[in-house]
Amino acid sequence: MRLKADIRACRICADRFAATRTGHAPRPVVWFRPSARILIVGQAPGARVHESGKPFTDPSGDRLRDWMGVSEDVFYDRDRVAILPMAFCFPGYDAKGGDLPPPPICAKTWRAQVIAALSEVELTLLVGGYAQKWHLGTSAGVRETVRGWRDHAPRVFPLPHPSWRNTAWLRKNPWFEAEVLPDLRRRIGEVLS
Ligand code: SF4
Repeated sequence: MRLKADIRACRICADRFAATRTGHAPRPVVWFRPSARILIVGQAPGARVHESGKPFTDPSGDRLRDWMGVSEDVFYDRDRVAILPMAFCFPGYDAKGGDLPPPPICAKTWRAQVIAALSEVELTLLVGGYAQKWHLGTSAGVRETVRGWRDHAPRVFPLPHPSWRNTAWLRKNPWFEAEVLPDLRRRIGEVLS
């Protein structure tokens, strides 16, 4: 597929990444096929995914698969599940050691073309604030958007980011695991059946 080859060859952010603490080069992590029926929209690859070249090969991925109730085999089956971050490359670290935001130029350059290629998608998971702002055009915070999940289901489910940094958020918001996850798993079962 030409589009995927073009994205893999993209070096637009080379100077931006070279100026970060890690001084790394772009390595776009591209993971989709046009037949996918579930679309996972993440933030941007972290350092571990930058190394592996495969999305969600980290504790966030373990938690996300648990939320979804799917095995690694299903999660990484590109014919069924597309994984499309808001930027395809690891953006580097900020001064506090957190990941920098996804460079907006990536979505501006590639997003519309990729979404147009994914015409079979029946369920979209919006993981974290960047994905929710872009896809829903909302300025609301993650808690408010996820709390209003019934406004978007069954085609779209806004989710918090599954990072360990959000473990306290999950403890403070037990309704998420009690109410959202059972419905999400039911919907995933329908779409994959
Ligand atoms: S983040 Fe996106 S725009 Fe920037 S180099 Fe990677 S693929 Fe290109």
